[in-house]
Amino acid sequence: MKKYLVLIMVLFVLSNIFCFSQDTLDSLLPIRGFCIAAPRPQDLGPFIKFIEKELAPRKVNTLVLRVDYNYQYKSHPELRDSVGLSKKDVKKLVEVCQKNKINLIPQINLFGHQSWAGTTDNLLQVYPEFDETPHIKMPEKYKWPNDDGLYCKSYCPLHPEVHKVVFDLVDELMDAFKATAFHAGLDEVFYIGDDKCPRCSGRDKAELFAGEVRTIRDHLVQNGRELWIWGDRLLDGTVTGMGMWEASKNNTHRAIDMIPKDVVICDWHYERADPTAVYFAMKGFHVITCPFNKPEVAVKQMNNMIEYRQNSTQQMSDRFLGIMQTVWSGTSSFLDEYYGIREPRDKNRNPSECFKTLFDEINELD
Ligand SMILES: [Zn+2]
Repeated sequence: MKKYLVLIMVLFVLSNIFCFSQDTLDSLLPIRGFCIAAPRPQDLGPFIKFIEKELAPRKVNTLVLRVDYNYQYKSHPELRDSVGLSKKDVKKLVEVCQKNKINLIPQINLFGHQSWAGTTDNLLQVYPEFDETPHIKMPEKYKWPNDDGLYCKSYCPLHPEVHKVVFDLVDELMDAFKATAFHAGLDEVFYIGDDKCPRCSGRDKAELFAGEVRTIRDHLVQNGRELWIWGDRLLDGTVTGMGMWEASKNNTHRAIDMIPKDVVICDWHYERADPTAVYFAMKGFHVITCPFNKPEVAVKQMNNMIEYRQNSTQQMSDRFLGIMQTVWSGTSSFLDEYYGIREPRDKNRNPSECFKTLFDEINELD
């Protein structure tokens, strides 16, 4: 009997230590995220194993999956990739995330990123009338920079039919993922308010950008869902010296004062630990800092987040949500690098090393 009592006491103490440390971590960094392309169906098994064996033990609690057209949409079968996740596949992802208390958030790139290099993505392939710049033809051989300033195509946010189509996709995906937050991308929107667009020409680009954010956000809110976006279009690339990628040089940055404050900002910076999270928080937004492939930058960003939380008023402190590792390759090539099956493309800029270093540091906090 005494033996059992001792055992119970030991278990009680251990569970308290565990709860305490989890609480500590949650208060230091409420969001500990990972963002990657959704796996193709053939990579689903290894990816689920990765969630269970790598993400969950490292206390990752948020997983953003870039799905785009990698899903067998019933609302718009014409927009599916030739191979896409089924509803059953997504159910497996939902279950493993629920089991491990990971908040699963799907992404479809809205507005910008409607093409990549020389390839137009499904939306504008099927509905070319939504193209903001139909006069700009896709090159046979893509190179950057180019005379058209073509990075990625955008859809026209003022086209009267576009939201009906994209919101069908968003709603269907959100239902399948049983998600409460949706990531709309919205990074690097270079084609906006084009002079030749009959609807957008002459309009204020900040207002156009803010209008699209608001439209998406208002749609999601009807179902009690939250909008997440990348933050680059809301930063002034000239004044900050951050340039045209991680900040805006196409006059969208004033949109920061025009969009609803409940939009969550994913503030990505890969070269330096810029203190831009403070700017977003002071504007009233919840913000997550996002590193990519430089471990030393990611660790600095993590420490900054913790400092911001600890050295701010309660109102401000709560807006610094945490940190999210971003990976921009496909799932299978990332997993190959992660497990050492394939040499990293660049040893000095390695997302899997960045992830491991960052989450080792995060787990040290416990
Ligand atoms: Zn337009």
